[in-house]
Amino acid sequence: MTALYFGMALNCYALPELRPCGVCASCHKFLSLEHPDFVYVFPTPNLNLNSEGEIKKQEVLKQYQAYLDNKRNSPWADFFFKENTEIRRESIALLIKRLELSIHEARYRVVIIENADQMNMQTSNAFLKTLEEPPANTVMILTTERMQMIMPTILSRTQPIYFKPLSRSIIENILAEQFDTSLAVAKPAARISAGNLKMAIRIASDAQSVSRDWAFEIMGLAARRDDLGFYNTLDKYKEHQVKDRVIDLLKYIRIIAGDIALLSINDSTNITNVDKLDELNQISSISSQACDSIHEYLLILEDFNRKVDGNVNLNLIMINLYIQTKHFLKAKL
Ligand SMILES: [Zn+2]
Repeated sequence: MTALYFGMALNCYALPELRPCGVCASCHKFLSLEHPDFVYVFPTPNLNLNSEGEIKKQEVLKQYQAYLDNKRNSPWADFFFKENTEIRRESIALLIKRLELSIHEARYRVVIIENADQMNMQTSNAFLKTLEEPPANTVMILTTERMQMIMPTILSRTQPIYFKPLSRSIIENILAEQFDTSLAVAKPAARISAGNLKMAIRIASDAQSVSRDWAFEIMGLAARRDDLGFYNTLDKYKEHQVKDRVIDLLKYIRIIAGDIALLSINDSTNITNVDKLDELNQISSISSQACDSIHEYLLILEDFNRKVDGNVNLNLIMINLYIQTKHFLKAKL
């Protein structure tokens, strides 16, 4: 969003102090992602571009347009292609071709490469020369949440701009004012998201709270030693047992574990899941020493996270997660 608004500001027709105005012809074209001097590159499945740079397969074209629609209408929501995605050599080749043309109407041509960490080494190398000698009046912006995954040769030719987490009150306000979220939902969402607005919006929307319920269920079952109940949840949440959801789940479990550790030392003022205090107290009341083993447990969760990222069998991860959670929530003697 910031990258797009920066591009808008560079080209806005309004007085300098009002840029980007969001309403002039240039701003309009940027907001609809249709400015002729705006090049938007992002991770995609194989697009099979023809020599004109058009997407040949109808099914892929439909998804590509749905991605752009999602960006225009709800940029805070993730859109997933059905196939694996990366920033493809063909997309970079097309970008290079477009940069050879002259600028249509803009003061500055704007290139955004979203999630630039998803460029493989070959693609990075193909892009490097362009980055070293960019055409005149062209601003190239790379975005990433994982800077360490970007090739050093690319990184050394950029000027990093870091984003700090937003404060809880800012997130609460955005949720309340722009998404009509009640305070009861906005407060825990702001706390859990740790300053990440996108995550806060996701938590506040109903669809995503499934992962949170799932996490509470697993913690409860592990605390009660209800093995059969756990095997039933494997079935119940079968359709959610996909990489991204399990990563969400692990995030929630980490936060719930932190709350339980706090309750085990009778600190209920600093817990995050303020709306679930009863459930947390219940788990905490039948477990012991959560505070002593929290550090070790968090390391184990981190390891699970890496394994999920590396495509280890998810069923195996779930079973191990349950066993380790039982271990963390040792029964009271
Ligand atoms: Zn404008």
